[in-house]
Amino acid sequence: MTILVVGDANADINAAIERFPAEGDDSLVTALAWSSGGSAANVAAALGRLGLPVRLLARVGSDPAATVALRAARAAGADLSAIQIDPLRATGLCYAAVSPDGNRTFFSFRGANAAMAQPPAGLLAGLGWLHISAYALIEGTQRASCLALIDMARARALPISLDLCMPALRAGRSEIVALLPQLAVLFGNELELAELCPGLSQDGAAGQLLRQGVPLAVIKLGPRGCLVAEPAGLQHVPAFTVAALDTSGCGDAFVAGFLLARLSGAPLAQCATLANALGALTATRPGAADALPTRDELRALLLARPGATAAAALLSDHPAN
Ligand code: ADP
Repeated sequence: MTILVVGDANADINAAIERFPAEGDDSLVTALAWSSGGSAANVAAALGRLGLPVRLLARVGSDPAATVALRAARAAGADLSAIQIDPLRATGLCYAAVSPDGNRTFFSFRGANAAMAQPPAGLLAGLGWLHISAYALIEGTQRASCLALIDMARARALPISLDLCMPALRAGRSEIVALLPQLAVLFGNELELAELCPGLSQDGAAGQLLRQGVPLAVIKLGPRGCLVAEPAGLQHVPAFTVAALDTSGCGDAFVAGFLLARLSGAPLAQCATLANALGALTATRPGAADALPTRDELRALLLARPGATAAAALLSDHPAN
């Protein structure tokens, strides 16, 4: 059952600097790494590494950064046949200047992402799930194309998940609220939950989302794990204890783990456990898509936690990466 993942694909550049320069300064970078990034590309890479059939819908430029943006998804075996190539706009790029104390200053350019054109309806044929990264809902033709895709998916009764982001909430919070009844799963982190449901406690906000029509809300809580809310009740599932180094891409890895388990029909606690394990291991390495764990690493972490063997067994049902 193929999952279509829609949203951004970026080239990420991590540049280590000795101190953040003043405007107009001429400053040396002491280490530099290019890697794949963008929330949708990260989720597609993670799903591919887990052995699930996945197709990525994103738009890149016709420039060398496009190869970097798609490298991790390609290496993970994701289907890239729906990728759009923009003849004029540059590939989305995120330049992070990293100070010695770990502080990161981002310079982000959305580039070709925002110009994603509406794909043909035939793109949805044979799919089992549509996952949308909310960056696709911020602006431009990408937003219009994504909304049209949601309509097409609904017409085919295709389950849809949405992972929130702050820029999309700031651009149109009420439009996102209007989408809630159309979703099978809503993902978000603590900040996004507070932006979506201002003035409420975490549990109160989760309850409000259910009343607004989303059947399942999964809130990512960083080193505290996650909160899973469904009409039958709320459950907190604790994180795995790891030495976190860089949490970029953790949320995307988490989403991939949760979807794998959900599509296998696993109980929600197992979905959350597998998701927490993927998020935790991704936090132990620098980078986003390039920091994703292998299935063997995941299995080892799960088997070491009492009660997580059922989640580890979910990994065996898929072909090796
Ligand atoms: P986002 O990247 O969307 O903001 P989080 O930072 O909450 O999401 O990370 C997603 C998931 O990754 C968390 O729910 C948790 O399971 C895992 N995770 C993130 N940071 C840590 C950490 N320091 N220790 C253990 N697990 C973590």
